[in-house]
Amino acid sequence: MSSNPTSPEKSPHILVLGMGGTIAGLASQSEDDPRKYQAGQVSVDSLLAHIQSAVPDGIQLVPHQVANINSRNLSDSLLTKLGSTVRDSLANPAVLGIVITHGTDTMEETGLFLQATSGKYAQTLGKRVILTGAMLPANAPQPDGPSNLLDAIRWASTPIDNCPGGIYAVMDGRGCMAMDLAKRHGTALNAPLQDSPSSSVGLINPSWLSGVKALQAVWSEDLPIPKLAEWPWVEILTSHAGARAETINHWLTSDVEGLVLAGSGIGGFHDEWVEPLNQAISHGIALVRTSRTGGGSTYPDIPEKDAPGCMASGTLTAPRARIALQLAINAAKQEKLNGKPLTWQDFFARIASLPEIR
Ligand code: ASP
Repeated sequence: MSSNPTSPEKSPHILVLGMGGTIAGLASQSEDDPRKYQAGQVSVDSLLAHIQSAVPDGIQLVPHQVANINSRNLSDSLLTKLGSTVRDSLANPAVLGIVITHGTDTMEETGLFLQATSGKYAQTLGKRVILTGAMLPANAPQPDGPSNLLDAIRWASTPIDNCPGGIYAVMDGRGCMAMDLAKRHGTALNAPLQDSPSSSVGLINPSWLSGVKALQAVWSEDLPIPKLAEWPWVEILTSHAGARAETINHWLTSDVEGLVLAGSGIGGFHDEWVEPLNQAISHGIALVRTSRTGGGSTYPDIPEKDAPGCMASGTLTAPRARIALQLAINAAKQEKLNGKPLTWQDFFARIASLPEIR
C-alpha cells in the first residue's frame, strides 16, 4: 500500500481483498453454456469500479489483490497469506471492516479458517469481515456478483449495534457466520449457504443474531495461523460400500498427520477400516470422524465406541473438520514448544463443541 498521507488507505475505509473465484470469472463470449468460464480473471479494482456508482455515500473502498485463483486450487500457503493479511488489516485503525471476494468452492474452508484464527479478534475490535462470491461469472447477462459485493460492503460498514464484529459471509441476499458455510449445490445462486443458519441481509433476524452472540460468547481465544512450513498434512477419506483396508494402510507409511473420516450415516465407517485405523492411532495419526451425508451432527461413541483419541466432529462437515484438525494439530505443537500440555483434541474440541445456530 502507498505511504502517501492523503491516500485513501490512511482515512477510514472498507478494505476489499480479492481472492478470485467466479465473481472475478469470465465466460468465453463464443460459448453459449454459462458453466464454461474461467474463474479468477478480473481484478478486484475492476469489480469495485463496476459497482462504484451504487456504493452508499461516505463509504470509502480500498482494494487489495491477495490472489486471483479458482478456489478449488486454494492452498495452505494462500490461507496463511490471507489470514495474516486479515489480522494485520484488522489491527489498522483506518480499516473499518473487510470484504473478501472468494470462489465459492472452498469458501467453506476459508470461513472456518478465518473464524478459528481471527474470530475473537474481529469481535473484540467490533469489525466485520465478510466473505462473498458469485455463482455466475462477471460477464454473464445477469451476474450475481455485483449485488453480493454491494450487500457485503453494506454489511461490513453498517453500525455495529446491528450485528457484532466477527467473520461472516453474504450470498444471494442472506448472511451467515462464515464458519457455517457449506456449498451444497453446483449451480444454485445460494449454493454456499442454502443449508446454513442465516439471516436476510436487509433485516437481521433476531433469533439468528442471538445464536451468533451465544457462539461468540463461547469462542474465547483464536488459534495461531500456521506459518507456511507448519501446516500439518491432513486428508479426508470417505467410507463407502466396498471400502478396503488398503485405503487406510496406504497412509501408515506416509507423513500424514491426520485423517478426517467421512463416514456413512451418523458417522460410522466400514468394518474393514477398524483394524487399520487402530494401527493409524498407534502410528500417532490424529483421527476425526464426521459424516458424508453433509447434514446433522456426529457424536462421540455413536454409533460405536470411538477408538481412544479419535474425535467426533460435532457439526463440522468434512472440509471444515479438516481445517479444524490442521489448526488443532498446529496449535498443540506450538503449546508443546511453550511447555504447555494441551493436546490437538483440546483445541479441536473448542471448535467442534461450539453451539449450533438454529
Ligand atoms: N470454481 C469457482 C471457485 O471456487 C466457483 C465459484 O467461485 O463459484 O473459484
